[in-house]
Amino acid sequence: MAGIWLSGILQSGFGLRGRVAGARGGSPAAAGPRSAPCARRAWAPRGADRAHALRRGLAGAFAAALFLGCVAAAHAQVYAARIWPAHDYTRVTFESKHALNYTLFTLEDPQRLVLDIQSAQADGVVTALQDKVADDDPYVSKLRVATNRPGVTRIVLDLKTNVRPQVFALKPVADYGHRLVLDLYPLVAPDPVAALLELDGKIGSAPDKPAEGGAPGIARLATIVVDPGHGGEDPGAHGRRGTLEKDVTLMIGRRLKALIDAEPGMRAVLTRDGDYYVPLGMRVQKARNVNADLFISIHADAFNRPHARGSSVFTLSQRPTSAAAAWLAKQENESDLVGGVNLDTRDPYLKQVLVDLQQTATYDHNRKLAGAVLDELGKINTLHKGRVERAAFAVLKAPDVPSILVETAFISNPQEELRLRDDAYQDKIARAILAGIKRYFGAHPPRPQGPLAHAN
Ligand SMILES: [Zn+2]
Repeated sequence: MAGIWLSGILQSGFGLRGRVAGARGGSPAAAGPRSAPCARRAWAPRGADRAHALRRGLAGAFAAALFLGCVAAAHAQVYAARIWPAHDYTRVTFESKHALNYTLFTLEDPQRLVLDIQSAQADGVVTALQDKVADDDPYVSKLRVATNRPGVTRIVLDLKTNVRPQVFALKPVADYGHRLVLDLYPLVAPDPVAALLELDGKIGSAPDKPAEGGAPGIARLATIVVDPGHGGEDPGAHGRRGTLEKDVTLMIGRRLKALIDAEPGMRAVLTRDGDYYVPLGMRVQKARNVNADLFISIHADAFNRPHARGSSVFTLSQRPTSAAAAWLAKQENESDLVGGVNLDTRDPYLKQVLVDLQQTATYDHNRKLAGAVLDELGKINTLHKGRVERAAFAVLKAPDVPSILVETAFISNPQEELRLRDDAYQDKIARAILAGIKRYFGAHPPRPQGPLAHAN
């Protein structure tokens, strides 16, 4: 098999043309590997800042493309390196103040990936990665770091299996500097339906008959996709005690999945079950791949005023119900910038024009599902607004799957942060969401042909 060879200058050139949406740059003070960066969510709308950064990025793109090699040679120093293993893909990230110049190639017998970062020093930050490869990493068995020649740090990844590597640069965003990202994908993407069959002990249930003891009117096994927001490079919002939104959403998501799986007639699928980033379009795609009946995205809100509190439930709309809702959607949609998506290859599905869901049956179902979940959350927590809100959340874009986004509580509120960390309270939130789902299904049971085949 022919090896692959990707040059950093070529890749970065693409990046400089394509990635101009960066918000203001960051200059993290702490050197060394970080398990997670500081919170990224801004405390106030900063459209002017972003427009300025956008213009600055465009102006600098051509100069940077011409002089990238020189700049990198003079200044590149990796100050953080991270690895995020997951079944979907394993990601390795190098962060530095200036864009990194690199070369990637493969070696065979045994299978290895070799990443040469030019002008970086093989200091402790990069070398420490050697000890961070998890035994259960699906793709990497070992990682080695050495100075290959003066000014070139060589990172060799011993592979457990053949992979499809992608390497790309990310411009500074939120608290991150320049990032060089190496993703290792399986040669054949896992079949989501097959995975569901493997994981789902209930698959033997007859799909066209009511599940024994199931909610009245449920005519088949309903699939609910539970989406824990953020993950990996994208921590989401954070609380004053350091609680990260990505951790809270995963814990609540896992609880909700367990509760759903324990219900007759229902099963749940998580869009992520680990600390790694799943692009927003991929979350939507995962729901469509398993022919989901419902999509529930789990988040935790943040604001600059610590007394802001309460639960909210959102649905998709091009016409936001408030400026705050529009701002929140914009923040959540920036996950892809922070979490890191290769814009050259990402799913074109994300780029599609937002359809006017007010014209579709989904709109009505979104609203009913959101209302039922909001009612139930109101029994265990203050409601932030007391009504379902709407805004243009990218993760709610599956046109044929009723989808809601739940902001469980304000992680920026010290009391709510404590509750979000609490096992019993996480359980309460999950149970409230489940109760809302069951109420919705009570009135609108899933149909054999799909969730909206007989919309009423
Ligand atoms: Zn979020």
